[in-house]
Amino acid sequence: MMKRYEVVLASRNRGKLRELESLLAAELGDIIALKSLDDIGFTEEIEENGTTFAENALLKANAVAAKGYIALADDSGLCVEALGGAPGVFSARYAGAHGDDAANNALLLQNLEGKSDRSAAFVAVFACAFPDGSEPIVAEGRVAGEILNAPRGEGGFGYDPLFYYAPLDKTFAELDREEKNGISHRGEAVRAFAKLFAERIKEN
Ligand code: IMP
Repeated sequence: MMKRYEVVLASRNRGKLRELESLLAAELGDIIALKSLDDIGFTEEIEENGTTFAENALLKANAVAAKGYIALADDSGLCVEALGGAPGVFSARYAGAHGDDAANNALLLQNLEGKSDRSAAFVAVFACAFPDGSEPIVAEGRVAGEILNAPRGEGGFGYDPLFYYAPLDKTFAELDREEKNGISHRGEAVRAFAKLFAERIKEN
């Protein structure tokens, strides 16, 4: 019988856990049993003070792996060319308050006023750390798009209504969840992680 691995997701967000569970199951079957921080009684606050997505994801994964678990963490954001890669790791708190999507989108539009280069990318990084200290797995996904002058679409979250994806002629807020998972930075990062995890456990 195939061995199962308990993996703790370094997040308190139940929605994120469930979504990731189904994405991982599609790639790996039931090899991974995903647990939350609450499941293991982890109450510490992990400070996300890294300067890159990978650093932040590793900070979170390492903090949980230090308690003796295989730990998975992600970090993601929007990088805009004409803004030198901003908002980047500050995407969730671009306008100040954490997770104020409307304010973040308004500030993004303001900062891009008059700029002709509207190219941008969503980036997601998954990091998986192991309690035995073996080399962490780091997997990245990236999707290129353009920032519109006004929002379009009702779905998604964050910067989705401003992120135009030319191959489908839609913003990310005009995609349903499955369409978005098929092309998104997060979908790609999860698939890359699943492949690397499968290779790792085959080696051991
Ligand atoms: P975190 O990875 O949960 O720390 O969140 C990163 C932030 O980046 C979110 O709060 C959003 O502002 C932005 N972001 C990351 N992925 C997406 C996406 O798929 N759509 C829209 N915004 C995103």
